[in-house]
Amino acid sequence: MTTVRTRIAPSPTGDPHVGTAYIALFNLCFARQHGGQFILRIEDTDQLRSSRESEQQIFDALRWLGIEWDEGPDVGGPHGPYRQSERGHIYKKYSDELVAKGHAFPCFCSAERLDQVRAEQQARKETPRYDGHCMHLSAEEAEQRIAAGESHVVRMKVPSEGVCVVPDLLRGAVEIPWDRMDMQVLMKADGLPTYFLANVVDDHLMGITHVLRGEEWLPSAPKLIKLYEYFGWEQPQLVYMPLLRNPDKSKLSKRKNPTSITFYERMGFLPEAMLNYLGRMGWSMPDEREKFSLAEMIEHFDIQRVSLGGPIFDLEKLSWLNGQWLRELPVERFAAEVQQWALNPQYLMKIAPHVQGRIETFSQLAPLAGMFFMGGVPLQASLFEHKKLQADQVRLLLQLILWKLEALRQWNKDKITAIIQQVAEHQGLKLRDVMPLIFPAITGQASSVSVLDAMEILGPDLSRFRLRQAVELLGSPSKKESKEWEKLLAELK
Ligand code: GLU
Repeated sequence: MTTVRTRIAPSPTGDPHVGTAYIALFNLCFARQHGGQFILRIEDTDQLRSSRESEQQIFDALRWLGIEWDEGPDVGGPHGPYRQSERGHIYKKYSDELVAKGHAFPCFCSAERLDQVRAEQQARKETPRYDGHCMHLSAEEAEQRIAAGESHVVRMKVPSEGVCVVPDLLRGAVEIPWDRMDMQVLMKADGLPTYFLANVVDDHLMGITHVLRGEEWLPSAPKLIKLYEYFGWEQPQLVYMPLLRNPDKSKLSKRKNPTSITFYERMGFLPEAMLNYLGRMGWSMPDEREKFSLAEMIEHFDIQRVSLGGPIFDLEKLSWLNGQWLRELPVERFAAEVQQWALNPQYLMKIAPHVQGRIETFSQLAPLAGMFFMGGVPLQASLFEHKKLQADQVRLLLQLILWKLEALRQWNKDKITAIIQQVAEHQGLKLRDVMPLIFPAITGQASSVSVLDAMEILGPDLSRFRLRQAVELLGSPSKKESKEWEKLLAELK
């Protein structure tokens, strides 16, 4: 019997997402339950959006949770490299093979032509898709144009009618009509593969037997299935896991819920509780108990116990579960965990330079620096009254700054200042007009240490969380305002 091999294949393009940990957990449990292996592969073919920092954060966040992998970029293994950007030499051969077999074709269409085709299709109320223009070029003509150095991509052919049956271990046979599928680009003009080609080639070469991925990928499953068929490869067993949702049932998003694993670490959640909660997302123990460890989950794991109703990721429920875990810790371990969380020398050293000059006795430290050890801070609307600005202007400024900070990747004082300044100037204001709004949002106090230093020390997760709470207190934008404000945000690019 072949060994079960599963994988998680995150793209390192942002904060380490709880959804990544959730899918990783189920892949890990599935592999372990069958005595198999769990692999971590980095899908970084989007060179513009991928970064090594983000990759490292994914490793750190998964390890913090207690998720370990048997093979991966940092631990090695017999099927490496495990980073797609280091496998560039592999994909072209497979793309060429598909072209040679007539399953794919080079496409020379310009962006302008594609835009025009799309606009015409939209005007006719058709689903926009590639019109097959280059599919009919002769092999000689295509070769000549490639030899002449003409820019091109490689697209796969897809059937234009009938349905594709996607066999899902949870849903059974899911039927998806072929006319919804586009002639997917497999190789980009820069010679790098897209997700579709790289994912199929790598899953095959890495011997992956079961793919558990998020439900958001189900609509594109037919393209992957077709590629396996074109290559003549055995397709892995598929499981499309239900998506995590906000309490209002919308797809979990950082605008409504913190989604970065580092946020939960910074808030002082226990990794065991966090993993336990992720294990409760759509899954339950045979005896329905709420509190269980990873080892217990593996012992009792059964993929058929995943229920398809969208699991709700609810901060209150998670906090409750965390409380259960906290209270059951031996008191020495509790003290050690608190110390490691924020009473550690590294964190105190960050704070010390900003408080030393402001206190006369150590006992004044807690009132001054308490906000470094808090999640949210107590807020009152009166703290945001501004002598020059109307209430709606205050809301707008805070929201714009929050949106900009949500996209900020390099979190330091200079970058934070530049953003606040940019938003202020865009609104015809000075930095010093806007700082009195940031101050209470972050510190919850009328005076404390410099707020820009505080934001750098608190880090992106807690700073954004506090700004979001201030926006919510003062009134989140209505639908109409959101539209208008997002236009302003676009001007700030
Ligand atoms: N790179 C994809 C992602 O970021 C992988 C999806 C899959 O599991 O195939 O989610």
